[in-house]
Amino acid sequence: MKKIAVFTSGGDSPGMNACVRAVVRSAIYHGLDIYGIRRGYNGMIKGDIFRMESSTVSNIIQRGGTILKSARSKEFKTKEGRQEAYEQLKKLGIEGLVAIGGDGTFTGANLFFQEYGIPTIGAPGTIDNDLYGTDYTIGYDTAVNTAVYAIDKIRDTADSHERVFFVEVMGRDSGYIAIPCAVGGGAEIVMIPETKTTIDKVVEALRTGWSRSKTSFIVIVAEGDEEGSAVEIAAKVQKAVPEMDARVTILGHVQRGGAPSAADRMLASQLGIACVEGLLQGRVCEMAGLMNSQLVYTPFIDTITKEKALNPNFSRMIDILSV
Ligand code: ATP
Repeated sequence: MKKIAVFTSGGDSPGMNACVRAVVRSAIYHGLDIYGIRRGYNGMIKGDIFRMESSTVSNIIQRGGTILKSARSKEFKTKEGRQEAYEQLKKLGIEGLVAIGGDGTFTGANLFFQEYGIPTIGAPGTIDNDLYGTDYTIGYDTAVNTAVYAIDKIRDTADSHERVFFVEVMGRDSGYIAIPCAVGGGAEIVMIPETKTTIDKVVEALRTGWSRSKTSFIVIVAEGDEEGSAVEIAAKVQKAVPEMDARVTILGHVQRGGAPSAADRMLASQLGIACVEGLLQGRVCEMAGLMNSQLVYTPFIDTITKEKALNPNFSRMIDILSV
């Protein structure tokens, strides 16, 4: 293998740049020609591919987002789109790919390998941390820290005005972001898709808190909670507790941006190198991850189909800590 290419795909996450840098520098270290593909699979289809040097990735380790840009590509989901992507890679003689993204990105790469035989190795670049095969995904630590920092500020005003704040964090399918936000932000209640927390239970927790002289509350809501969004949940609770002075904050995309934490830079760098070395070892359709601090390669198919269950003790922790 002499020529490989790297791309970022799906939602951006802090640390993607650090991972791109590690891929580029380790490819050069191992004597490979390295190319960058802009805008994920869209750029592959359009041939938006350029030669990268060590200097191309200077001064990016600390930057959020991705210098390669990211995209969600409808065209790559079609046979014609993938055929065009293959033609573009063939034209440049690219023999291997490093994909930095989430399970959708790996689903596409798996299919592409089956059809055209281009080996791909992946790095988990997503703030969601719900990928099987790694304890942490690149960007998760930063996203959680950004959210906790925001919750600290919200707590100041909640405390001063004796209010109940419903804070919505990302997590359509899981409470991976919500749980450390609730623990680290000192929240009284957390609502996540994995566990059922009824409105009655929220009301009961508020009433218990008031009876114990608590005057302000933070309720963390993962966006995919079964009771609805933070706005909907706040409205339902307000109906049951008309005297409550409630506010809603949706943290939204601030959780995706910003400089990556040191932990994310370290993880991204380790996994970027592991991707290139994995390709050179002949690995195909696997994701590099860290489990119990050990480097592991997990087949794409497992990262797509297997569930990474949240530790059930986490919800209990919040019950204990909010007494
Ligand atoms: P995130 O976790 O941040 O959402 P992701 O990698 O899961 O990241 P997706 O938008 O789901 O993000 O997938 C990225 C891209 O992968 C899609 O835009 C599409 O081009 C490609 N892809 C996803 N599923 C398939 C599929 N079944 N077949 C071909 N390509 C796919």
